[in-house]
Amino acid sequence: MSVNLDWENLGFSYMKLPYRYLAYYKNGQWEKGGLTEDATLHMSESYPCLHYGQQAFEGMKAYRTKDGSVQLFRPDQNAKRLQRTSDRLLMPQVPTDMFVDAVKQVVRANEEYVPPYGTGGTLYIRPLLLGVGDIIGVKPADEYIFTVFAMPVGNYFKGGLTPTNFIVSDKYDRAAPYGTGAAKVGGNYAASLLPGQMAHEKKFSDVIYLDPATHTKIEEVGSANFFGITKDNEFVTPYSPSILPSITKYSLLYLAEHRLGLKAIEGDVPIDDLDRFAEAGACGTAAVISPIGGIQHGEDFHVFYSETEVGPVTRKLYNELTGIQFGDVEAPEGWIVKV
Ligand SMILES: *Cc1c(COP(=O)(O)O)cnc(C)c1O
Repeated sequence: MSVNLDWENLGFSYMKLPYRYLAYYKNGQWEKGGLTEDATLHMSESYPCLHYGQQAFEGMKAYRTKDGSVQLFRPDQNAKRLQRTSDRLLMPQVPTDMFVDAVKQVVRANEEYVPPYGTGGTLYIRPLLLGVGDIIGVKPADEYIFTVFAMPVGNYFKGGLTPTNFIVSDKYDRAAPYGTGAAKVGGNYAASLLPGQMAHEKKFSDVIYLDPATHTKIEEVGSANFFGITKDNEFVTPYSPSILPSITKYSLLYLAEHRLGLKAIEGDVPIDDLDRFAEAGACGTAAVISPIGGIQHGEDFHVFYSETEVGPVTRKLYNELTGIQFGDVEAPEGWIVKV
């Protein structure tokens, strides 16, 4: 370790690290990419990613284990999700090998910025795919930039897992029923900024979106998926074509069934039937799990386990998953990739 950061108190903010990866797609193929020290993208005013939102991103982490080594959690799943997103936006796929290799190169080059084991910190990695080239008409770009950069981030919950309250969006959707909800694209986030701000102004930590077709079922949280634990020990998470398929969520589904002995179900979660849940949470790479204390829906405020304490099943799921990510708990086959 040669850099000296306040590892215990890192937030979630951009930090310019020494190296990032950059590759160009031209003439129908990916050129050989590599590391660069230049953190600035030099852009033409005509780039379609700037005008028509032809872009996509991923979010993942590198973890420092007890023995000092560094590992990735299911990076092939991020590669595959970016490929599905690319298909939806008519962008070229970044092959899985190229994706994972780029991520490894960036982590290795910035290795001294991977927070020490035990601080709860991780190296957050942001792969980004942009449609570029001199085009002004509405059509897919013929050139693309794939870049991967990273920054150290802190443990989301400094004082341990703490529930927060969420509010159902009664006015805005984040995605259309068969729009781009399942693609990890900036446009979905642009659509969620206003409802997110309205929620924050009312002191809620985030918005819960209902299904855009009927507004009767929970879809997901602004940047995390929803799950509930029923009183009959079922792990239930919504299924819908407009939800972003969270890798954390699918990992929890697996662990709920195979490690905790719960029944794992992807299905409808009617907003008017929250009484069946003993616990609830939001899950995604950044926070892993944010326990949900209560949900405001119109005039109703529904409390799950407690507004101040995390429920026992949520805590077990969190410990199991983070244990695997930091190398303390045996991982299911193929989930861990050493850097
Ligand atoms: C990235 C993302 C998630 C979380 O996915 P993970 O793979 O678990 O990080 C959930 N919802 C939305 C809208 C997202 O963009």
